[in-house]
Amino acid sequence: MASNGFWNEEIETMKRSDLEKLQVERLRKTVEIAQHSPYYSEVFKKNNITPESIKSLEDLQRFPFTTKEDLRSHYPFGLVLVPMEKVVRVHSSSGTTGNPTVVAHSQKDLDEWAEQVARCMYMVGCRNTDVFQNTSGYGMFTGGLGYQYGAERLGAVTVPAAAGNSKRQIKFIMDFGTTVIHAIPSYATRLAEVFYEMGIDPKKDTKLRIFCLGAEPHSEEQRQRIEQLFGIKAYNCFGMSEMNGPGVAFECKEQNGLHVWEDYVIPEILDPVTLQPVPEGEVGELVLTTINREAMPLFRYRTRDLTRFIPGDCPCGRTHRRLARFQGRSDDMIIVKGVNIFPIQIERILMGFKELGMNYLITIDTISNNDEMQVEVEIGDNMRIDDYPTLQNLTKEITRQLKDEILLTPKVKLVEKGSIPQAEGKAVRVKDFRKNH
Ligand code: ADP
Ligand code: ZN
Repeated sequence: MASNGFWNEEIETMKRSDLEKLQVERLRKTVEIAQHSPYYSEVFKKNNITPESIKSLEDLQRFPFTTKEDLRSHYPFGLVLVPMEKVVRVHSSSGTTGNPTVVAHSQKDLDEWAEQVARCMYMVGCRNTDVFQNTSGYGMFTGGLGYQYGAERLGAVTVPAAAGNSKRQIKFIMDFGTTVIHAIPSYATRLAEVFYEMGIDPKKDTKLRIFCLGAEPHSEEQRQRIEQLFGIKAYNCFGMSEMNGPGVAFECKEQNGLHVWEDYVIPEILDPVTLQPVPEGEVGELVLTTINREAMPLFRYRTRDLTRFIPGDCPCGRTHRRLARFQGRSDDMIIVKGVNIFPIQIERILMGFKELGMNYLITIDTISNNDEMQVEVEIGDNMRIDDYPTLQNLTKEITRQLKDEILLTPKVKLVEKGSIPQAEGKAVRVKDFRKNH
């Protein structure tokens, strides 16, 4: 099927008008599937939604939103629309509080998802001649099996190494000649450290050539550092378990925005307060409607993730719209002394200092009735923790740049490499000890 550098040229380069027609058709089909379920029959009746009434993308506006809370209150299978005989797998998000969110998939859903991931990987140059190693956990987390089936669909040799045990990961990379690797950004950094501790230079001594990087927010600066550490290109992958998992949107080789696959989802970017579309190109909350899922479609799902559409055509020839690098989730925003701050703003500044490592922690606490922010960051390999004059100057400069960016002055503390604890899975960058948190 693949040709001219596209996994599915017809779909990937489809004329916008045809793509929109396809979206309307698929939305109508999804309504057909959903209308007989007790839950949706009521929702649709209230909003006068019938398959016949879906005539253009405008009709999506008549659908109510779906939230994480809706998924939780129908836990586990309340929103499954096919008989359970047709369900072959469930995935869930980690859900630190309350019920996790669960998504059920039919075999067709899983096949479509594998296609979606294969399309992403092919786009950045992965081929069936590649050896693909996946460092994601292979459990309910979608980064494991999601990539596994996508890479198999592509025809690559897959190495389902799963999470952890960096020395073993490196042994596999060396012995199997791994060429493509998938990791979350915080683990990519850790892996690079272990490479260098073992005296292996991943740039020269491995066959690695492509890095798939995703599942957690990271700044452009962090991506560039990872690219330098490994000497390869790293591509941003966005996904969430509610929308299958990895592969919802993926950067092409232009590395200027992530193509969101519009034959799978209808993306909207809305003002999180008014829930009206933001002007083209402005930041808002990403809202997604699945249009080729049968077991558990979701209409206008509020992701809480903040991004914007990148206006204009992509030189790669794909017509699916591009999303800008994610700024974080609306619930990641920290408000200190009335100032709204996203952790990624702090990361961007820190990563600009070559003297620093890549691990950092933001702590907020109330001290004598005042909200105080502390930014701890590990120093890099070429710095010494007892080199006071250098550290002092560096601390001053970091504080100054942070103040320019976030408009308040945090307490900056440089700490030794390895002293900030690393999370098992996705990185924890913020600890808020204030009473009301
Ligand atoms: P969990 O809820 O267990 O963390 P999910 O895979 O469902 O697992 O998490 C999805 C969330 O991860 C997204 O809603 C988004 O906030 C974040 N995320 C995923 N990929 C990216 C990315 N490339 N950039 C920024 N954030 C991302
Ligand atoms: Zn492109």
